[in-house]
Amino acid sequence: MLCQACHRFHRGHLLCAECRQRLRPAADRLLPGGFRLLAAFEHSGPAKTLIHHFKYRGLTEYADLAASMLAKRLPPLPLVPVPRALTRRVRYGVDPARVLADRLAHYLGVPVLPLLQPPLHKQRRAGGDHSRAVTGFRLRQVPKGPVLVVDDVVTTGATLLSAITSIGESRVRAAVAANAVPGVSSGVSWKHH
Ligand SMILES: [Zn+2]
Repeated sequence: MLCQACHRFHRGHLLCAECRQRLRPAADRLLPGGFRLLAAFEHSGPAKTLIHHFKYRGLTEYADLAASMLAKRLPPLPLVPVPRALTRRVRYGVDPARVLADRLAHYLGVPVLPLLQPPLHKQRRAGGDHSRAVTGFRLRQVPKGPVLVVDDVVTTGATLLSAITSIGESRVRAAVAANAVPGVSSGVSWKHH
């Protein structure tokens, strides 16, 4: 078959041996705000190519690969995926964070909780409840215990933080992603929640 990263013929699955060797497992890191982020791969080289195919061409095998890398590093907690905007979900036929969460749930034996609603464009608040902070995501239901929040790619971390704020900072044990851009991290000591 064709290597999904370099497009040369090879005898493996998904990636040729050379591209597989070029995958860079990501180190644990901190998001702004002190949340621990565990990602499968650095967002570079073959991993960057593959996640692009995953998001825009439905190459869900990449979610399997990322989930198998992540599963052994994660506590068995319910998974809350960060939803893709509905227009993009329809256009590309896949909700990447949901697919990754489903694969992880299979490994960890935990439920996926689709608690977040994607932001609506030009949302206006028509009076009434002003007690909640306005954030990008709406929470359908408050989780009963600690959760992991799952996204596909973390670049600045802003989207994840918006999701964490919506879920409630005290309820999120850690963030999980397939890919993370090098440099989104800071420091080495975890802030405890
Ligand atoms: Zn290759």
